[in-house]
Amino acid sequence: MQPSGSFKIRGIGNLMKTAIRRNKGEPIHFYCSSGGNAGLACATVARMVGHEATIVVPRSTSQLLVKKLKDEGAEVQQLGEDLAAADLYLRKELIGCDPNAFYVPPFDHPLIWAGQETLLGEVEQQMAERGGFDAVVCSVGGGSMLIGIQQTIKKKVASTREKAPLVLAVETRGAESLNASLLAGRHITLDKITSIATSLGVSKVAERAYRLAQEPNVRSVVLSDAEAAMACVRFADEERILVETSCGVSLATVYNGVLKKLLGAGMSEEDWSRTRVVISVCGGSDVSPERIKEYRKRYGEEV
Ligand SMILES: *Cc1c(COP(=O)(O)O)cnc(C)c1O
Repeated sequence: MQPSGSFKIRGIGNLMKTAIRRNKGEPIHFYCSSGGNAGLACATVARMVGHEATIVVPRSTSQLLVKKLKDEGAEVQQLGEDLAAADLYLRKELIGCDPNAFYVPPFDHPLIWAGQETLLGEVEQQMAERGGFDAVVCSVGGGSMLIGIQQTIKKKVASTREKAPLVLAVETRGAESLNASLLAGRHITLDKITSIATSLGVSKVAERAYRLAQEPNVRSVVLSDAEAAMACVRFADEERILVETSCGVSLATVYNGVLKKLLGAGMSEEDWSRTRVVISVCGGSDVSPERIKEYRKRYGEEV
C-alpha cells in the first residue's frame, strides 16, 4: 500500500535521498537492476524528485511489471538470464558511459538496509503499548527486508525482552538461496532459479543476510510455489488485497500451520492465542485479478 506497491521504496528511497542530498541539486541519472519491485521503487522516487531513471530487468520479469515501470516514466531494458546478468550489464555497459550515473543496487547496500529498518521500527512503536510481539515472518530474496528486520530487533527490541522475537525467514523452493547456504554451511550461489516468485529469485543473498540468519532467533523456512500462490488466493478472498507470491509465501506459514508448529510447539492453546505475530505483507506489483484466477486453477487441487 506504499508508493510503488511494495516495501522496497523504504530502502531504495533512503539510498536515493542520500545521493540527491550529497549531489546538491546537480542532475542525477539513477540506474537500477531489479527483478521488478526495486526498479519500480527507483522509478517512482526518480519521478517524484524529477530525476531520470533507467531500470534493467532480467527476461524472467513479467510484461505486467515492465509496463508499470514504463508508466512511471523510467527507461526500461529487459535482458539477461537472471538478476545477476542484468546487474552486470547495467554496471558494465550503462553506468560507465554516463557521468551523471548513480548506481542503485536492488538489495545489497547499508543505506537500503537502514531504510528497510523503518518497516519493523514503525510496527514496534505501534505495538509497544500492547506488549510488543513474539515473532516476525518475512520473505527473503536478496535479504534486505530480513536484514532491516533483524537489525531493528537487535537495536530496539531484544534489550526490552527476556527472549528476542523469533524471525521466520521464508523462501520458495527454487529460490531458496538463503536456505541452501545455511544447509551448506557457506555462502553459496544457486545454479538456477526455478520458482514462480521472481521477486525472491536472487541466486545469492547479501553476505549480511547470510550472517544474520545464523543468529539464534532466526529460522529459515522453504515452502512450495503452490503454497505461496494459494496463500495469495486466500488473502485476496479473505482480506481483499492482492499480493505477489513473494509475499504470499509469508502468509502461507499462517495458513499451512508451519508458523504454529515452529512457534507454538509445547504451548497451551491459551498461550498460543495470546501469541502476537507480525507478518510482513510486503506487497509487490507483479499480480492482478487475472493472475489470482490462474493460481486458483493451477494450484487449487494441490493445496
Ligand atoms: C524484493 C521483494 C522481496 C524480497 O526482499 P529482499 O529484500 O530482496 O529479500 C519480497 N517481497 C517483495 C514483494 C519484494 O518486492
